[in-house]
Amino acid sequence: MTQQLITTDVVIIGAGIAGLWLHNRLNNMGFHALLLENNTIGNAQTLSSQGIIHGGTKYALNGILSKATQAIGAMPARWQACLKGTGEVDLSQVKVFSDHQLMWSQEKLSSKMVSFFASKALSSRMQTVAKPERPPLFQHPDFKGALYRLEEPVLDIPSVLRCLVQPWQDRILQIPSESEITWQQNTHGVQSIQIGEYKIQAQQFVLTAGEGNQALLDTLAIKKPKMQRRPLQMVLCKAKDPKQALPAIYAHSLGSGSKPIATITSHFDENGNTVWYIGGNIAEQGVGKSLADISQEAQRLLHDILPWFDFPELKWASHTINRAEPKQSALSRPDTAFVESKNNIHIAWPTKLALAPDLADKVIDALIIQNLVANEHSTPTLPQATIGKPLWDIAFK
Ligand SMILES: Cc1cc2nc3c(=O)[nH]c(=O)nc-3n(C[C@H](O)[C@H](O)[C@H](O)COP(=O)(O)OP(=O)(O)OC[C@H]3O[C@@H](n4cnc5c(N)ncnc54)[C@H](O)[C@@H]3O)c2cc1C
Repeated sequence: MTQQLITTDVVIIGAGIAGLWLHNRLNNMGFHALLLENNTIGNAQTLSSQGIIHGGTKYALNGILSKATQAIGAMPARWQACLKGTGEVDLSQVKVFSDHQLMWSQEKLSSKMVSFFASKALSSRMQTVAKPERPPLFQHPDFKGALYRLEEPVLDIPSVLRCLVQPWQDRILQIPSESEITWQQNTHGVQSIQIGEYKIQAQQFVLTAGEGNQALLDTLAIKKPKMQRRPLQMVLCKAKDPKQALPAIYAHSLGSGSKPIATITSHFDENGNTVWYIGGNIAEQGVGKSLADISQEAQRLLHDILPWFDFPELKWASHTINRAEPKQSALSRPDTAFVESKNNIHIAWPTKLALAPDLADKVIDALIIQNLVANEHSTPTLPQATIGKPLWDIAFK
């Protein structure tokens, strides 16, 4: 077998939101970075996400502005600048589904919660929505609860992927899914990787393969950091008759607990029919349930949280997916983007789509500390990777 040599400054493995954001930043800075994908771009967590650019308000429902709330608080403004075309990556062609989310509670909120939401720390992030300004779904006279507006946008993720792929597409390469990566390393770190007939030489290697990071760490015999998987079974529904399409909403339903009972985002299938994508408690607790059981449960839940709404006949689907993150005690949610370096290998999990800019900052800092140099390299001959299909077009089949 003839061997083909490819050279670059940085190899990034895994083209989800983390790898793509970092790849754009590094190439925009004048480095040569290659992004390698063994499936389709975005196919795992990124295209399964709800597209919410959290600012952390959701994590303050227990009445405490935690570390998580503060770390993520700066993210909506960074994404907004990119959406305007003035930020660190150009997202000016992204479809913004909504520039805000809603949060509603059927019951009146406790006075403690009302004053917390009105406090200095939170009042810039959320406001109550006065009756005349409510969207039609919440105009119904039977809705007597509270409605808040969160200044955090919701994006169409396939359009985010298109924007991130376009500028440096010839540096996003498809690698065969079956071939294992072999690492050539000495005591200073990795010099090159071998994938089939290709040998790729680089100064630095970044792992942004989401759940795939674990297998890569195993081939490198790296025992720490460890990864955790937190599974979800998300629920999808749409009107059987597209003429009776569901209204598009981007909203969290609040109960008495510190997590939303349900988070509903709306997406559009290839025929333009609205698909409600439902996360929150139902998805956390729904893992392992049959489609019949979870859809019945979701139907009951929707009638409970929107009792005044006359639902059309619905078609149901579900989607099981793991969140992949650095291991925490008691499988809790990590607070910030995570990067750990072992010589010139950098292991990264954003832990939230919204934290991709924060993750890129942290990886770039780690690369600069290791004296990354920008060199000239020729365009490699491997085929380019392609973007995965939106969930709304495959989940109901
Ligand atoms: C149901 C769900 C909803 C979510 N909603 C939100 C939300 O609304 N807002 C938010 O901020 N966060 C959300 N998240 C979290 C967010 O989606 C993830 O944190 C983020 O997408 C992780 O991105 P990633 O690039 O690290 O991983 P991934 O998107 O999983 O990408 C990893 C990529 O690496 C590739 N890969 C794996 N192994 C290899 C290998 N050996 N070689 C080459 N490539 C490889 C995979 O094919 C994949 O393309 C959600 C998560 C889930 C599961």
